[in-house]
Amino acid sequence: MTVKQFNPKQTTTMDGPKQIIQEQSIQVKQLDSAPETTKIGFVSLGCPKNLVDSERILTQLRIEGYDVVSTYKDAALVIVNTCGFIDSAVQESLDTIGEALAENGKVIVTGCLGIKEDEIREVHPNVLSITGPHAYEEVVNQVHEHLPKPEFNPFLNLVPDHGVKLTPKHFAYLKISEGCNHRCTFCIIPSMRGDLVSRPVGQVLSEAKRLKAAGVNELLVISQDTSAYGVDVKYKTDFWDGMPVKTHMQQLCEKLGEMDMWIRLHYVYPYPHVDDLIPLMAEGKILPYLDIPFQHANKRILRLMKRPGSADRTIERIRKWREVCPELIIRSTFIVGFPGETEEEFEELLTFLEEAQLDRVGCFKYSPVDGAKANDLPDPIDEDIKDIRLQRFMEVQSQISKQRLQDRIGKEYNIVIDSVDAEGAVGRTFGDAPEIDGVVHLNGVFDVQPGQRLWAEIIHADEHDLWAVPVEDEEADIQDA
Ligand code: SF4
Repeated sequence: MTVKQFNPKQTTTMDGPKQIIQEQSIQVKQLDSAPETTKIGFVSLGCPKNLVDSERILTQLRIEGYDVVSTYKDAALVIVNTCGFIDSAVQESLDTIGEALAENGKVIVTGCLGIKEDEIREVHPNVLSITGPHAYEEVVNQVHEHLPKPEFNPFLNLVPDHGVKLTPKHFAYLKISEGCNHRCTFCIIPSMRGDLVSRPVGQVLSEAKRLKAAGVNELLVISQDTSAYGVDVKYKTDFWDGMPVKTHMQQLCEKLGEMDMWIRLHYVYPYPHVDDLIPLMAEGKILPYLDIPFQHANKRILRLMKRPGSADRTIERIRKWREVCPELIIRSTFIVGFPGETEEEFEELLTFLEEAQLDRVGCFKYSPVDGAKANDLPDPIDEDIKDIRLQRFMEVQSQISKQRLQDRIGKEYNIVIDSVDAEGAVGRTFGDAPEIDGVVHLNGVFDVQPGQRLWAEIIHADEHDLWAVPVEDEEADIQDA
């Protein structure tokens, strides 16, 4: 439980894909002897949505028999999947392309920054090709152009049903749609990824089932706007397992909830129909965890951001959600120092934090993003004032987060193990999403594997993490993943 400043860097380095593919035993051994011309390096930058795009490209390349290697020198070419969300992400993407060019020389660029081809070519004129986000086929075609497709060999081309995953075996991202119909003035994602396109619900559920069969026991549902799922196809009815299912968030969650996995919802826009998901959480069908970016509390600022809601209504909704589902954990993100934000409006945000008592909060200072509408708004806030507001925001929220973690001491939770290190096992409760939230330390517990679950009592908490000991009763038996 923590206050985080926005950090766009969730980078999978050159080493990552190779290592994870090896851990998943996707026939790497034989492929080590593959000809040089089938070896590809891959760097994935940015958010989980980009990671899923990387997984799709890698899955297709592995199906075709290409190998993934972990060093620039071993690769015949390198693919860089870029992020272009904010200026620091753009810079990181450009630096990574530069590094790949210097170390390898043959570089294919794809991902969000790809829509700004001129900007990339200005700095790196020698990249082989550039495409925008979710251009899976184009990327694979470009690889064909520069590295001839390996001869098909059924013994080498073994890829599991669930494809290539870049996450540990026990959890996976499930991307349900692409693009976004909103036009938040601080955001350029719709211009990079286009309007909302929902995946057919049958396809999404089949993927979930395949992931479950592959050992996944936690699904992180992602998209740009998870609660808008199906709006673009007018909630069309599809079929799955011989039964009609609507392309709608509610029905998707109900079906996922029957699969006996942890189902965690990310990037939920605060639409009124989110209220209908809370009973599913109370019934234990999906995790009582909501990642819902409120961005601000003041009505005028929200209007300038083109976001819905106002503090009063949101507080009322949170109160009702907690009435229905008292264990609900809420994660949110906010922007401070948005153009024109007055001291009073900022204080309204602080009051909102006190009243909302959110569990986990990310906060970042507004910074102009090339191409965002908010750049044209009057009265930009001085950097000094933004810094002070961010600090004040963090002081208020870290006390709240700390207290909410303290409140968990003495309670028992089902913990999923993520890793075991020299001090013992490290895991998470339902209230902790991987990579972004805190962890639970089980010091001295070594006889567990990643993906296993056990019951434990929380005995200590700091501002971010929890410490727990396994519970010595019947329920404490370690469960298989
Ligand atoms: S909801 Fe707003 S912030 Fe989120 S992707 Fe869409 S436009 Fe961007």
